[in-house]
Amino acid sequence: MIKFLDLEKINNRFRKEFDEKIKNILDSGWYLLGKNDEEFEQHFAQYCGTKYCIGVGNGLDALTLIINAYGFGKGDEIIVPANTYIASILSISYNGCTPVLVEPDINTYNINPDLIEEKITDKTKAILLVHLYGQAVQMDKIWALAKKYNLKVIEDSAQAHGAIYQGKRAGNLGDASGFSFYPGKNLGCIGDGGCVTTNDKELADKIRALRNYGSNIKYHNIYQGVNSRLDEIHAAILDVKLPYLDSDNQRRRDIANYYLNNIKNDKIIMRKSYDENANVWHVFPIRTKNRDKFQEYLKQNDIQTLIHYPIPPHKQEAYKEWNNLSFPITEEIHETILSLPISPVMTDEEVKKVVEITNAW
Ligand SMILES: *Cc1c(COP(=O)(O)O)cnc(C)c1O
Repeated sequence: MIKFLDLEKINNRFRKEFDEKIKNILDSGWYLLGKNDEEFEQHFAQYCGTKYCIGVGNGLDALTLIINAYGFGKGDEIIVPANTYIASILSISYNGCTPVLVEPDINTYNINPDLIEEKITDKTKAILLVHLYGQAVQMDKIWALAKKYNLKVIEDSAQAHGAIYQGKRAGNLGDASGFSFYPGKNLGCIGDGGCVTTNDKELADKIRALRNYGSNIKYHNIYQGVNSRLDEIHAAILDVKLPYLDSDNQRRRDIANYYLNNIKNDKIIMRKSYDENANVWHVFPIRTKNRDKFQEYLKQNDIQTLIHYPIPPHKQEAYKEWNNLSFPITEEIHETILSLPISPVMTDEEVKKVVEITNAW
């Protein structure tokens, strides 16, 4: 069986270092907001090229806290892609803001920058964009719109650790960015984790307090905060893995290029990269008309795949008020998309087999 993602194999590469780190944390008796969190925050900020990084409990909290810290709430509109994982949109509605959905570009699957301006009103406060499936959004037009209408640019970088656009990494392409370290992400811990990156000191200070009950000094609460911290164990694990992120991403690129060059089947549409460095291939998405049949065929040939995602956010029960809206490009993507296996620990034989079986369909 070719697994979609072999997490055990990914993490076993670092098993010795993990054991050592976990033992040290157990021995120290200090489990939260300690030196492991501080060190990882410093290293990840350095990696992204930002001044600040604040560890939080997960990726959804990272985005929710950014919007909260800017003070956006009821009556404020935030532009967001219609084609995304629902967490991007939940972070907006959880703050009481109105998500304004924008269709993707059918070639990149990311938000279509040409469709944003018509959605901007005098209530619009921010553009929340998502570097979906690991490919950085082409930012030029978005930066220009943000400047013209005085909007914040918030990145959802949960699938794009290490992606580079015009020499800058995801996490450093807007005013603030949320990352997830969910186990299956390109940089993942062994549970839930996340962080915010930014160059804005005021925002960083506020989020640092908000994640800890709104407090910087114990028992002095300046905001109505939440409890959303990055545990010492997760921070330590992430710090062990961070130095290998670039080589892991390169392995993903090599596999993606092999797929792009060798999958030859008229029934399969593949997404191309507009720039190698911009894409860290969190997943390798293909589109095909009879997606469910193709998935079943791969399964019968011992190849595990996943659908990212089967139901678009506007068709979810959670957003009943949108169920009658029509986003044809988003719907087309959800009906036809399938993610082939890709990961830094896949062997050449496995990659070849995926190509052979796909070509024989
Ligand atoms: C994973 C993910 C999130 C949420 O991160 P969690 O850590 O699972 O809360 C948000 N946005 C996108 C695009 C994601 O893929």
